[in-house]
Amino acid sequence: MTLTTFDDIGRVLREHQHFAILSHVRPDGDALGSQLALALSLQQLGKDVRVWNEDGMLEKYSFLPRAELLTKPPATADNVDVAIALDTAIQNRLGTAFGAIGSAKIWINIDHHPSNPGYGDMVIVDPSAPATGEIIFRLIKSQGLPFNHDIAENLYAAISTDTGSFQYPNTSARTFEIAAELVRAGGLNIGQLSQLLYESYPRRRLELLRELLRTMRFTEHDRVASFTLSLKTAADLGVLPEDNEGLIDHLRAIRSVIVAVFFEELKDGKVRVSMRSKNEAFDVCAICQKFGGGGHTLAAGARIRGSLAEVEEKFLEEIREVVKRGS
Ligand code: 5GP
Ligand code: MN
Repeated sequence: MTLTTFDDIGRVLREHQHFAILSHVRPDGDALGSQLALALSLQQLGKDVRVWNEDGMLEKYSFLPRAELLTKPPATADNVDVAIALDTAIQNRLGTAFGAIGSAKIWINIDHHPSNPGYGDMVIVDPSAPATGEIIFRLIKSQGLPFNHDIAENLYAAISTDTGSFQYPNTSARTFEIAAELVRAGGLNIGQLSQLLYESYPRRRLELLRELLRTMRFTEHDRVASFTLSLKTAADLGVLPEDNEGLIDHLRAIRSVIVAVFFEELKDGKVRVSMRSKNEAFDVCAICQKFGGGGHTLAAGARIRGSLAEVEEKFLEEIREVVKRGS
């Protein structure tokens, strides 16, 4: 692997015809918005583009321009010239989308997770970018690739959601400059877009929050807060996996809390752990990596085999150690 520049990637994009753009399982706004934005730009260049995610398009992001382009991968593998993984810290988080690539001459890996080991033939991993959407914007602009309203709206959704509405620490002046250019050049209606992004939740999401708050636990003098979701509660409420995205922010928003944790029982005998930190000294990525997960310093996750109670116990013990060492 050699150091890849935007020019290298621009050249590969122009020189090939058949592309697949992939992102991680349980996608978020950054994954889906970045995929659609790059796909639309390549389509305008006259390229043939598949846009695949294991989970397909989520209901809550189905308002994104040209959302119908994003589908679940086909059951039989397909050959492409170039496969592009976006926002995906490790290759196996591509899930079934990875298996759908029969062969690809070139694998491109574009991401902003510091834990990304740099898989693939061409790699741009920029942890200073608060969203993969910001890297896609810079790629499109630096290479003079097609840009229009639909691309701008997808990139704005990617950046706005992954920065927690321009609040997280790696939100920079550059992020606001890019957002400004997206609004100006893309002719975006921010009021309308914000309503679609942040005020269009189904009622069941708040009903889920009510149940999560009932399980809320505080340890380490209220510095660690957690809540849990069992399969039974999820089934009783009829919630979708996507409904819980962002609910952990209610724990993080408590003044005394430094580390917030969400434990979600999964159908495959594992527990999904989602963590947030408010302090760079408490690196939740390092904790998750101990359990085979990864992510960013202040937002990370892992999937661990075991019952909800077992995983909760193991994790809170590990966090206790780290919090003690830091205090
Ligand atoms: P979330 O808590 O929102 O699911 O994820 C927070 C961050 O941690 C995201 O950047 C995500 O990519 C990363 N992450 C979440 N779960 C996993 C996991 O199981 N493995 C790895 N490597 N990263 C994860
Ligand atoms: Mn991201």
